[in-house]
Amino acid sequence: MRYYCPRCWKDFSKDHDICPHCGLNIKDFWAKKDRVEKLIIALNHPEGSTRLRAAWLLGKEKDKRALPYLIEACNREDDLYLIRECIKAIGSIGGDEAKKFLLKMRDHPASMIKDEVEIALSNLRD
Ligand SMILES: [Zn+2]
Repeated sequence: MRYYCPRCWKDFSKDHDICPHCGLNIKDFWAKKDRVEKLIIALNHPEGSTRLRAAWLLGKEKDKRALPYLIEACNREDDLYLIRECIKAIGSIGGDEAKKFLLKMRDHPASMIKDEVEIALSNLRD
């Protein structure tokens, strides 16, 4: 089990209240965040599996606050599975901004992404 500082992303073998690297009060930092805010932060986690899970959970939360962060993650990530999970989440949040982004993603070079974009867009139309 590794612990991470949510600001500098240094990892530790034990759970610290205060980050020994950047001095952030980690305990306090998380206490002030709601579930969606925590998941948004986890989109920047150094472990891909955690980012993937955060994207999936944000799709279930359907909270519009997550939308710009999911879009940013799509633009930044190289991992197609992660991009696909973000696309799904963006589709389930929906709205004009989501639709605009999904239309742009229609030309993505990977068919795995293009297929998911088409599914997301057809769900938006329902
Ligand atoms: Zn830190």
